[in-house]
Amino acid sequence: MEIVSSVNELREKIMTWKKQGRKTGFVPTMGYLHEGHLSLVRESKRRSGVTVVSIFVNPKQFGPAEDYKVYPRDLERDRALLQREGVDLIFYPPVEVMYPEGYKTYVEVEDLQDRLCGKSRPGHFRGVCTVVLKLFNLVQPDEAYFGWKDAQQVIILRKMVEDLNLPVKIVPLPLVRDHDGLALSSRNTYLSPDERRAALVLKKSLDLAERLILDGEKDAHKVREKMIELIAAEPLARIDYVEVVNLNNLEPVEKLEGEALIALAVIIGRTRLIDNLRITSGGIEK
Ligand code: AMP
Repeated sequence: MEIVSSVNELREKIMTWKKQGRKTGFVPTMGYLHEGHLSLVRESKRRSGVTVVSIFVNPKQFGPAEDYKVYPRDLERDRALLQREGVDLIFYPPVEVMYPEGYKTYVEVEDLQDRLCGKSRPGHFRGVCTVVLKLFNLVQPDEAYFGWKDAQQVIILRKMVEDLNLPVKIVPLPLVRDHDGLALSSRNTYLSPDERRAALVLKKSLDLAERLILDGEKDAHKVREKMIELIAAEPLARIDYVEVVNLNNLEPVEKLEGEALIALAVIIGRTRLIDNLRITSGGIEK
């Protein structure tokens, strides 16, 4: 496994693999890896000839008051984990390589970027789309793997790929949870033991939603109200949003009939956590 930090080195490796006709799988990450990330890596290994993982804490997707500076980083640990998975290459660029002085170009996916997390994190998805498009241009993957943990991100990136005719297939993969149900996230390290316990309220509210829906509840408003009530009873939790939306265009839905996404963001102490469940023709996934 190689670690490369420059565009030229990366391009050289990618060209060699392309000439050999090997299918490239790509997993973009911000590092501080956990089983959620590794599930994407394993799927890439299963489906592709070579697997590239990027580790880049992208400053453009953090707001000025957000946690860019303190976001957890541990390259040595990440390197060992990826080596064990048999990853072929880690792309680990410094910020100046991705955004040299005078950088000016951005990608926006209108409307979708302003919903759910976009409301409380203005500019976040513009930063995500910009870095992902740059990484796609550099790595030129056949397939790129993303977790449903970040459902809005999946939906927005799929739209970007469609709208810009990018020759890459976005492959969304299941959300991976800790043994007690908490969605794995690099940000979970911010939680104190009390907050860690309080954070279970996100998953509990989704369990409640699932139970209501399986019992026949079709009124999105009622499901949402019950979730809010449950979360409000947790003193360490502050709701950012709880929304029931269409799984493709993220517009609010009133009746739970077709495909839907129930997404929430809750602040526990000072840590903002997200979680979701998806209703598809295949059933409920969370
Ligand atoms: P991040 O490092 O947080 O930018 O995440 C990199 C990729 O890992 C994204 O596609 C995330 O959706 C995915 N990911 C993060 N946490 C999880 C999880 N708990 N389950 C599945 N995928 C995840």
